[in-house]
Amino acid sequence: MSAPTNGSHQADLVIVGGGIFGCSIAWHYARLGVGRVLLLERDILACAATSCAAALLTRARVKTALMVLITQTYADIAALEAELDETLDLHRVGSLHVAASALHRRELQDLVGVAERAGLRVDWLTADDAIRRVPWLNLEGDAVTAFMPDDGFIDPYRLAMAYARAARRCGAELRQGVAVTGFLRQGDWISGVATTQGPVHAACVVDAAGAWAGLLAASLGVGLPMAPVRSQYWITAPDPLFPPDHPTTILPDARAYSRPDLGGLLFGLRERQSVSIDPRRLPCTSSGFALGEAGGHSSLEGGAPALRRFLPALDQLGIAHYIAGLSTYTPDGLPILGAVAGLGGFLAATGCSGAGIATAGGVGASIAALAAERTPPFDLAPFRIDRFGPINPFNMEFRRRCEQARSNKSSG
Ligand SMILES: Cc1cc2nc3c(=O)[nH]c(=O)nc-3n(C[C@H](O)[C@H](O)[C@H](O)COP(=O)(O)OP(=O)(O)OC[C@H]3O[C@@H](n4cnc5c(N)ncnc54)[C@H](O)[C@@H]3O)c2cc1C
Repeated sequence: MSAPTNGSHQADLVIVGGGIFGCSIAWHYARLGVGRVLLLERDILACAATSCAAALLTRARVKTALMVLITQTYADIAALEAELDETLDLHRVGSLHVAASALHRRELQDLVGVAERAGLRVDWLTADDAIRRVPWLNLEGDAVTAFMPDDGFIDPYRLAMAYARAARRCGAELRQGVAVTGFLRQGDWISGVATTQGPVHAACVVDAAGAWAGLLAASLGVGLPMAPVRSQYWITAPDPLFPPDHPTTILPDARAYSRPDLGGLLFGLRERQSVSIDPRRLPCTSSGFALGEAGGHSSLEGGAPALRRFLPALDQLGIAHYIAGLSTYTPDGLPILGAVAGLGGFLAATGCSGAGIATAGGVGASIAALAAERTPPFDLAPFRIDRFGPINPFNMEFRRRCEQARSNKSSG
């Protein structure tokens, strides 16, 4: 992976983007002690998708390749707490998976099998037991529920900042207010980046720029197979119906998920037709831009009938907050991790597919290993950049495939 070098490198590794992927990579690389790492964030750390996340850390996934990445995140949380000597308030409330239709009952059966084979604890609950844990839940007819007690959620900003602080303690440099504007290239090697504060030479550059990662890669002629897709959730006004320690709840029949927050209920709804943005139309700022109508009213109205079946109190609850942000989705809902054939000194770490908080640990450990020319701790074949063949990420038909990956997602 090392570029032909004249000894003038300012860093061994440059990371573009200070979201949770960038911060995790910085920590994992810095603690290997193999070289100097510099992270460049054009705004402030964790200001984009990372700070928007609902941050469910659901371990059992139909897309089983994700599970080792998520396990690493749980290990990182424990390691960061020890290293920083502070708690990160992981809310280990468990997750309740609910399935009402025949299709989703079959899927839940499969998911429970996946969880058991991975050694995760899982219990089928009676309807009474499920409602004892989730008092707002209405279960009809043939609905079944499985409870996974070791799952949890976390404040995504705190986790990202813990990675950032631990990285700094290990010697990483994280600079804010510096935008990467392009790449330095010597033939088939990337030898650094151009920035708003001048060039930075490096042996390896990681593109972890979230929704903007595809645009940066396109400047190299590389088509990253992903699109920025809107994710959104609402938080109700505080209500005693929602105990602060009740489980996260996954409701595929309502295309919904939820967890307690701020004394109310945070719930996300996945539209049948998700909305993507042409990367070329993204603003050059990571925060404060509008993603459609204020309040997400039409999505809420569209999703309410299905959610109401499980949450009959929905219409009596006030909505206190609406959050929308951009995740990056690939057509198969798996991230993009690794090198591009024929291009040295460049790695991509993006395509989070709405699971970037949960997978951040595995992404950081894998990319740090690749950048250090070590064998990654996990099989990265499912995450190869070229797995869809040649694609045009700006093409509407391709973006539709990425939108569908979000619409069809049924796990947490
Ligand atoms: C509403 C919502 C709910 C979500 N819920 C969950 C959930 O429950 N569980 C879960 O695991 N995930 C969830 N996610 C997904 C999660 O937020 C993302 O997967 C994760 O934050 C991606 O992190 P990232 O570092 O790739 O991107 P980002 O956090 O977007 O970071 C990218 C960074 O790159 C910077 N950047 C961009 N271009 C440049 C440049 N040219 N130069 C320098 N810096 C640049 C940006 O400023 C930004 O800070 C949710 C996302 C949203 C929007």
